[in-house]
Amino acid sequence: MSYAVNEIFLTLQGEGMQAGRRAVFLRFAGCNLWSGREVDRAAAACRFCDTDFVGTDGENGGRYEAEALAERVAALWGEGDRPLVVVTGGEPMLQLDAPLIDALHARGFDVAMESNGTLTAAAGLDWVCISPKSGTEVIQRAGDELKLVWPQEGLDPEALLGWDFKHFLIQPMDCAEGEAAIRASIDYVMAHPRWRLSLQTHKLLGLP
Ligand code: SF4
Repeated sequence: MSYAVNEIFLTLQGEGMQAGRRAVFLRFAGCNLWSGREVDRAAAACRFCDTDFVGTDGENGGRYEAEALAERVAALWGEGDRPLVVVTGGEPMLQLDAPLIDALHARGFDVAMESNGTLTAAAGLDWVCISPKSGTEVIQRAGDELKLVWPQEGLDPEALLGWDFKHFLIQPMDCAEGEAAIRASIDYVMAHPRWRLSLQTHKLLGLP
């Protein structure tokens, strides 16, 4: 299979329980909840996206076969123990499959994946992060971390606590009302301590 890749880059994981780890980000092109075009945003199932996942012309973007893609990821990692690749998008489960996971594992990588949860996560992943979107049907209800962008009208965080995740995270929405979203997130976690605050530290640090 040929994978459509938007970009690949080396950075620090900025969010969630693995924040601060050096990681190669592998961003697939395309999402099933939004076309990525601004003209479609108002009518999309997910309307608060802060990521450019359209096309294959980003840094190291293009079309790859599994071995070549894993090789490019490994080259970007370079030297160092505990290599980590974060497979994201767009929606990575539109493309991520066993041959690519195997090729990354063969090069020693922990394979983390960040998904909207509307598709089943592939088997064999080392870290599954699901970020539910209001009004969509989440079928992947188990994993390592549930990362809820907040606030989201129509989503009750307490109703998600029955899902099978090790960590439950609230992350302020990056939007025009960002200050209010931060305040709402802090207030929520203070009142509901099973949740932990996640910040987009890469943005605070000026990292991609
Ligand atoms: S599901 Fe994720 S990648 Fe897709 S539009 Fe929403 S935030 Fe963006």
